[in-house]
Amino acid sequence: MEQRTDIKSLSLEELTEEITGLGEKAFRAKQLYDWMHVKLSRGFDEMTDLSKAFREKCRERYDYTALEEVRVQQSGLDGTRKFLFGLSDGNVVESVWMKYRHGNSVCISSQVGCRMGCRFCASTLDGLERNLSPSEMLDQVYTITLLTGERVSNVVVMGTGEPLDNFDNLLKFIRLLTDENGLHISQRNVTVSTCGIVPEMYRLADEKLQLTLALSLHAAADGKRKELMPIANRYSIKELMEACAYYFEKTGRRITFEYSLVGGVNDTDEDAARLAALAGPLRCHVNLIPVNPIKERDFVQ
Ligand code: SF4
Repeated sequence: MEQRTDIKSLSLEELTEEITGLGEKAFRAKQLYDWMHVKLSRGFDEMTDLSKAFREKCRERYDYTALEEVRVQQSGLDGTRKFLFGLSDGNVVESVWMKYRHGNSVCISSQVGCRMGCRFCASTLDGLERNLSPSEMLDQVYTITLLTGERVSNVVVMGTGEPLDNFDNLLKFIRLLTDENGLHISQRNVTVSTCGIVPEMYRLADEKLQLTLALSLHAAADGKRKELMPIANRYSIKELMEACAYYFEKTGRRITFEYSLVGGVNDTDEDAARLAALAGPLRCHVNLIPVNPIKERDFVQ
């Protein structure tokens, strides 16, 4: 079966090429783009200033992704909401909405499942199911904006999945999310978290985006990191630090080291000294996170 084009994943340029290819005027593409990325329309039916015939033409040719709200849980403490969304193929993804004084932040997933196998993480238990498309990543931000009725100012790609394992879609997503013709979220308000896929860190640095890159470090020595994160068998901490330095050199953006404190595993004085030695020479931030115990794994806080 011929694969249909996922219309919400197209850049304005690509969309213009598509729409003019159908014999329509270029401004129709801009109208469509506006409906998808500014008015956050959930389907062609809502696009009432486009003719029925044109909408029908689009429906025949293009896939239009939209998420279904499966479940929402709200924290009684700070109003944080956790959403479970259904995708068109029956898979589900989780996104989190957090309200801060400086604006609203959404943490999105980039894959269904994950193949990185970090031992402290529940997302990894069933491995990777599939990558999310750029539109499915956008939809998490768009749907939450619609459901809360509030603008999102920060986006964190730190939910299920390893974003750099879905590099091309991630890049498209970021370009669409930060596009001045769309929601126009500032690149500086986007954070991408990686477990440390070194070649993709170099690729991302070469894109010279103004993102924040957060590195899940979690151990400051190779042996301990290997116990927690299988990716450490592929790339040493030395290689990681070189990639971080390169990222800073290319983008001028400080890396954030994420360090989950796992009781008795990586929280000794020696660990702290090693971490300080790694972080010292680099321009970086260190974020210490207490680990959530998960019953399928054997780590505790
Ligand atoms: S890369 Fe992220 S989502 Fe994947 S297993 Fe590790 S912590 Fe979990």
